[in-house]
Amino acid sequence: MLINFNATIMFNLVLFGPPGAGKGTQSQKLIDQYKLVHLSTGDILRAERKAGTPLGQEAQKYIDRGALVPDSVVIGMIELHIDKNIKGPGFIFDGFPRTTAQAIALDELLLKKGTAIHAMVALEVSEDELRKRLLLRGKDSGRPDDQDPAIIQNRIDVYNKETSPVKDFYSKQGKYIGVNGIGSIDAIYASICDVIETTSK
Ligand code: AMP
Repeated sequence: MLINFNATIMFNLVLFGPPGAGKGTQSQKLIDQYKLVHLSTGDILRAERKAGTPLGQEAQKYIDRGALVPDSVVIGMIELHIDKNIKGPGFIFDGFPRTTAQAIALDELLLKKGTAIHAMVALEVSEDELRKRLLLRGKDSGRPDDQDPAIIQNRIDVYNKETSPVKDFYSKQGKYIGVNGIGSIDAIYASICDVIETTSK
């Protein structure tokens, strides 16, 4: 039987992986199943941009070239969203943390709230497959950063250089679990559920 999280059994998951690994797709399935609060920094930044807020305008410059929005901006933004939902069953962090500084800040934020990250699931997908998936997604997503091969490559390079070290951060805490991100959506989902069920016991 799948576990039900609530305010007393809280569960916080970092769903990690390069752009195009399937984090958004798997997050949707996980929130349906576990009712966790989905915090995707990419989605939040795009919503800010659409609303034309100063934060959204500032972020646009970085998003359009496939660079990372500065840590201070993203950390302040995620803190507000954590605060709003802290009485809930827990969070799926999608696309955050993307630097070791963000991971350290997230640990500190959650500690202040009396909770912590329970597991980091990293979806593993080859670069060739990522490039294919992102270009394909760009046909429907309308996202300019999914349509230009040079921006896609920059996002992958930024991931390798700045984001991939976040794995070591959680590995040192014994929280890193790699999952094969190639295969059917349902098979990958089943592997993630296994991790959640095992980790939350
Ligand atoms: P995503 O939807 O996760 O692929 O994110 C799209 C873009 O938003 C990224 O290429 C970055 O420019 C920006 N972004 C999203 N999350 C973060 C983050 N945690 N730190 C810095 N920039 C971010």
